[in-house]
Amino acid sequence: MAARPDYYKILGVGKNASEEEIKKAYRKLARQYNPDRNPGDAAAEERFKEVQTAYDLLSDPEKRRAFDTFGAAGTRASPGFGGVRVEDFDLGDLGDLFGSMFGGARRATRQPLRGDDLEARVRISFEDSLTGVQVRVPVEVDSVCSACHGTGAEPGTSPVVCPECGGRGVVSEAQGLFAFSQPCPRCHGNGSIVEKPCKRCRGSGRERTTKRFSVKIPPGAKAGTRIRLKGKGEAGRNGGPPGDLYVVVDVDPSRLFQRRGTDLVLDVPVTYAEAALGANVEIPTPDGPVSLKIPSGTESGKLLRVRGRGAPQIRGNGRGDLLARVKVTVPKKLSKAEREALEAYGKVSRENPRERVFSP
Ligand SMILES: [Zn+2]
Ligand SMILES: [Zn+2]
Repeated sequence: MAARPDYYKILGVGKNASEEEIKKAYRKLARQYNPDRNPGDAAAEERFKEVQTAYDLLSDPEKRRAFDTFGAAGTRASPGFGGVRVEDFDLGDLGDLFGSMFGGARRATRQPLRGDDLEARVRISFEDSLTGVQVRVPVEVDSVCSACHGTGAEPGTSPVVCPECGGRGVVSEAQGLFAFSQPCPRCHGNGSIVEKPCKRCRGSGRERTTKRFSVKIPPGAKAGTRIRLKGKGEAGRNGGPPGDLYVVVDVDPSRLFQRRGTDLVLDVPVTYAEAALGANVEIPTPDGPVSLKIPSGTESGKLLRVRGRGAPQIRGNGRGDLLARVKVTVPKKLSKAEREALEAYGKVSRENPRERVFSP
């Protein structure tokens, strides 16, 4: 196994150097080997890159700690590479030590991640769906554990570098000529493990809390309407933006009206006499009763349109119509006078309703 570059040596500092000492050494060397000051000097350029890489690693406390323990773990892992030395993979670009070569798993946990979108359901009355309503929506959100502040370790303890993967978060296994990386089974790709998990969050570092949002349901919302509250979803990770909250509306059915798009359908029972002779009848609308003209000769099932008395358009200012569906009723019980009147009518009626239906 080839010797691993000693980043401390590259910067000319001791293993116990403070952050400040590392920064100072880096600045001095970076100036010295800066390609702008050494044009055409390949050796200086090489040195400059080394210094850069060494500083990138040692200036990051987590990476530095992992590097400090990496030696032992690396030696143990290397036989798995089946003759392809670990150095051939990861030490060409030392920045990759924790990067692409050893798997997206490690990198993914570092990248800013947008928080998940959340969905909450809210149930409103039919009347409120037409006028719009302000509601409070309780939402369960994932947030950083208040006891361990997200580390997952019991307060007073801290996570340690995973001894299985040396903090890389991935382990490699040789198959023929190739080595495959997979998330470390011990630390699940985190690179660190918690020896004493936080009791509050059982080591997850996150906890569920209930937040209450005030949401304005616009007039005209119907069952299934989704309202987006930008940025009110799950918190982002590693500085990523939060997700959105979608509030999905459920509407209680109305005793009177059925929705058909922005139109409302209302069943209007009328007597045979009203349907045959025509009548003005009073019907309910969302804005109070109106008078509806039933033209003479109206058949059962006919839709009569009352303009502008439907549901508001959720976008825009328009309103749908009220569709009055005429239902001719047949009396179950007749008074003596009614029976006589109907019998008299039957005698004088010239109508044969089956004529149109059964004529050849
Ligand atoms: Zn916790
Ligand atoms: Zn591990």
